[in-house]
Amino acid sequence: MKPNQRYSLAALAQGALRNHQNWDRAWQSPPLKPQYDVVIIGGGGHGLATAYYLAKNHGIRKIAVLEKNWIGGGNSGRNTAIIRSNYLRQDSIRFFDKSVQLYETLSRELNYNIMFSQRSEVDILLTNTSMRNMRRRCFNMNLQGVDFKMLSADEVRQRIPVLAPMKECRLPILGGSVQSRAGIARHDAIVWGYARAASAYGVDIIQNVVITGIRRAENGEISGLNTDRGLIKTNKIATAAGGENSSVAEMAGIRLPLQTFNLQAFVSEPIKPVLDVVVNCPDLQVYLSHSDKGELVVGGITDAQQISFRRGGKLAVLDSTVAGLLELFPTFRRLKLMRQWGGALEFARDGSPIISLTPIKGFYVSAGWWGGFKAIPAGGLTLAHTIAKDEPHPLSACYRLNRFDTMNFLMESGTTVPIH
Ligand SMILES: Cc1cc2nc3c(=O)[nH]c(=O)nc-3n(C[C@H](O)[C@H](O)[C@H](O)COP(=O)(O)OP(=O)(O)OC[C@H]3O[C@@H](n4cnc5c(N)ncnc54)[C@H](O)[C@@H]3O)c2cc1C
Repeated sequence: MKPNQRYSLAALAQGALRNHQNWDRAWQSPPLKPQYDVVIIGGGGHGLATAYYLAKNHGIRKIAVLEKNWIGGGNSGRNTAIIRSNYLRQDSIRFFDKSVQLYETLSRELNYNIMFSQRSEVDILLTNTSMRNMRRRCFNMNLQGVDFKMLSADEVRQRIPVLAPMKECRLPILGGSVQSRAGIARHDAIVWGYARAASAYGVDIIQNVVITGIRRAENGEISGLNTDRGLIKTNKIATAAGGENSSVAEMAGIRLPLQTFNLQAFVSEPIKPVLDVVVNCPDLQVYLSHSDKGELVVGGITDAQQISFRRGGKLAVLDSTVAGLLELFPTFRRLKLMRQWGGALEFARDGSPIISLTPIKGFYVSAGWWGGFKAIPAGGLTLAHTIAKDEPHPLSACYRLNRFDTMNFLMESGTTVPIH
């Protein structure tokens, strides 16, 4: 194990003097070994964070992260990067707030600037139903001691002066809510920061590898996996494959209670600063923030018409998101859209993720990450515990897979859900 080169102002200055020829590779890509203690399928934020905490907190060193494309090429590199913990259920609030807390110190911990900007998230509420739902969430958040408060319509307008004037609104703004510790971070940096830190502990990060099968011993336990680069022996496999966990789990022989849908986002051309908070409007199903590059980063609802693994997006969904955006901010109507993309996201029918042991000994799951960018640190921390100790972490015990057998659902409305 080689300790990472330290990133600092002094190192940057030295680099400038040496024409930036002094930098080590951020992570190692060694050849695949024939045997590992743990193999993680999927090199997104969750897979890499799990590898990092397995090595750091549990001293497991023979770990491989197998990625079929390139790390961060899945949803971790395709999201709108919003981090918040304003959920409804007590268990979710605790879990997601732990994640926000970990994000708060992550740049220092990983020695990698993740550009976490805690600029607040303001929800704009246009209907009595939303007001009532948000008040309920507010009470629960405050009972857990987590910052969240309701705002009057005037307070919403003070925080977001660029909103449409009252006389131009189809629906009046009734009020809002704010979580001041919420914000955005640089999505690639989360992936690269965890990859670099895990690699320093000796984790093998292998990209462009195809997994062709998961092997089980006669007693049903995990015994290894087949890849296009040969057989790997291991007794522990975790799937953190983003929108494709259900397909990976099928290779192991179990069916997960998940459906995969398309979610898309887009950015505008860069403009001068107009918005210094993250905005979410559940009634118009649009959310946005102003990136450091100056682009407006905008997301909307999912395309819930059909199950889909595609990574593009449909014009009709883009159209309805833009309509919602312009209803709130008519002044953005002359902006040009620069890029649009989508991702395939898994959804468990209660809207909560699955971080769990499974009926197959040695097979673990991190899945159902609808809005899971914000959960990467806590997801990695708790899955690593589950793998190392073969028991759930107290924070994620609520997300165990067998809740679907016992009907202990964790119905969560703190996320935009594709229920239809
Ligand atoms: C448009 C959009 C906006 C979003 N906005 C937000 C947001 O603002 N806030 C938020 O919290 N969340 C958001 N999300 C959700 C968030 O991006 C995901 O929940 C999160 O990134 C999931 O991380 P992951 O590591 O589980 O999956 P991924 O980042 O998708 O990583 C999984 C990896 O597994 C790999 N893989 C798949 N199958 C295999 C296989 N068979 N073998 C090997 N590798 C495999 C994939 O190539 C991928 O790299 C958004 C998602 C999208 C698409």
